[in-house]
Amino acid sequence: MFSSGIRNRLIASFLLLIGATLLALGSYILWFFHENNTERLAGGLLTEARVAEQFLHPYMRGPREKASLETLLRELATTVDHRITVIDKDGVVVADSWENPATMENHRQRPEVADALTAGQGSAIRHSSTVGENFLYIAIPMRDGAETTGVIRVAATMAHVEAGFNRIRTVMLFAFFVTSVLAVLLSFRLARRYTAPLEAITNVARQMGQGQLDRRVHVRTGDEIEVLGHTLNNLAASLGDKINEIVAEKRKLELILENMDNAVILLDRFGKVTDVNRQAAAMFGITPAMLGQHNIQVIGHSALEQAVRQTVTEGRSRHIDLKTNLAGVKRVFQVFLAPTFSPEDEPAGVLCVFHDITALKEVEERQAEFVANASHELGTPLTAIKGFAETLLDGALADPALSVKFVTIIQEEADRMHRLVKELMQLARLSSEEIRRQVKLEPTAVAEVAATVVSQLYPQWHAKELDVRLAAGEGRVLARANADWLTQVLVNLLDNSIKFTPPGGRITVSCSQEAGNAVITVEDTGSGIPAAELPFIFDRFYRVDRARVREGGGSGLGLSIVKFIVETLGGTIAVKSKAGEGTTFTITLPLAE
Ligand code: ADP
Repeated sequence: MFSSGIRNRLIASFLLLIGATLLALGSYILWFFHENNTERLAGGLLTEARVAEQFLHPYMRGPREKASLETLLRELATTVDHRITVIDKDGVVVADSWENPATMENHRQRPEVADALTAGQGSAIRHSSTVGENFLYIAIPMRDGAETTGVIRVAATMAHVEAGFNRIRTVMLFAFFVTSVLAVLLSFRLARRYTAPLEAITNVARQMGQGQLDRRVHVRTGDEIEVLGHTLNNLAASLGDKINEIVAEKRKLELILENMDNAVILLDRFGKVTDVNRQAAAMFGITPAMLGQHNIQVIGHSALEQAVRQTVTEGRSRHIDLKTNLAGVKRVFQVFLAPTFSPEDEPAGVLCVFHDITALKEVEERQAEFVANASHELGTPLTAIKGFAETLLDGALADPALSVKFVTIIQEEADRMHRLVKELMQLARLSSEEIRRQVKLEPTAVAEVAATVVSQLYPQWHAKELDVRLAAGEGRVLARANADWLTQVLVNLLDNSIKFTPPGGRITVSCSQEAGNAVITVEDTGSGIPAAELPFIFDRFYRVDRARVREGGGSGLGLSIVKFIVETLGGTIAVKSKAGEGTTFTITLPLAE
């Protein structure tokens, strides 16, 4: 369309140029031809007039001469085909070679006659209605010595000149027509030749515009159009490279966004959700239909909305902690909000990155709780020790019996503190990644470890007159464990059973192999644990009956150490208990290969 427009304009310009040139040239030639022929005719007539004047001026001297002039002219008319008229100086026609002078009007006012009398020569072209042709008149004055006696006028028809002119005009028109046809054909060819490369470039440019940047212009004209083609090719190549770079960059960003742990949400400056990554969609249940909705509708948190508004108005990034309840699960997020800007530097929106710090917060809370509990547990015996020491110093030392009692209590409390500190250190050691990595797991004969523990604790259970039995199943069960750790587990469990089983009760430690696992149970007929307490007994510092257990010296750390060790070894621990009837702890450990 564009290049056909150029082609039409080119053709029109060519035609206009050729037409105008031909027209101007033809008109000039025609004009020149006409003028030249007229001049030549006029020249001939002037010569004839001069010859006639020389010959005829004596006839103007008197009326008699004038009368014979008439006859003379008539004779002349038979040999000369030009009309000769003699007019006296008053304009009266004296004689005429073609007409009867008596019928002719006064010629004083005829331009050629007037000019001849005033300027010495006159000429005019006039149409003769009698003959129906144009005539050229040339007039000069007739002189007799210094006196002007009249005017002699010679006239000739212009028909020959005009006929020649018409012929030439016809030829010229024909030539004009032929040249025009040739010019049209040539213009079309030329215009086509000039516009074809342009058309090719336009087509390729159009395809490039539609995204086909691998298209190239192939034009070999050796002029500016070829340069234009090369430039377009270079432009497309560098544009293609740039687009590839941008696409690669975009893919990289998308990959990062999609595979990062954090949920990312992009909001516009009004707080409406415009884009989310996969994690955000999954975490907040955002469907594509929800894009465009306000964050209050999607996330439903006024603190976030407030932070978004502040980020937009202040144009500065910020962090906020956000406590949410997602599908009934409490989550804590640290949200990073950064403002985004339009190319004109206007606030465009806010980028929100949600960092899930629920676990971190939990650890922090647990640590704080642990420190509080540990301080409390250590503080209680310390207060007792301090109290009894002060009482002793205040005078009780004087009473030997009281002194022994108080010092015994001080020693017991110090023992308790010692045990507590030992257990805390053990827990800390177990928690250490280093120690867990260094521990050697090897085939451990569970029954042998159990037997060692039972005999180790003999003084305690024997003192309480308890019946402790060891039941080992058939075959030697080898667990993939560490003997020291397993000893610690069984010592803690058996120690509890001894503590919480009244004298005369029975404790059974059994070892067996079940479904690819080593299974160890410690069963007692002791006080049992109320069902409501069962879920908490593995928690640190948890004791069922604090007042009563205090006497037994428990710290509430034993079972948490047991659970920690069993799970570190890749096993499980379960408890079954009925208040007043007894308790059974069941441990499973993976078998040694
Ligand atoms: P502690 O060192 O105080 O014994 P544990 O973590 O070992 O702490 O035990 C936590 C609580 O579980 C105890 O205070 C006790 O109330 C209860 N418990 C543990 N084992 C038994 C058991 N065999 N019989 C009854 N209660 C038990």
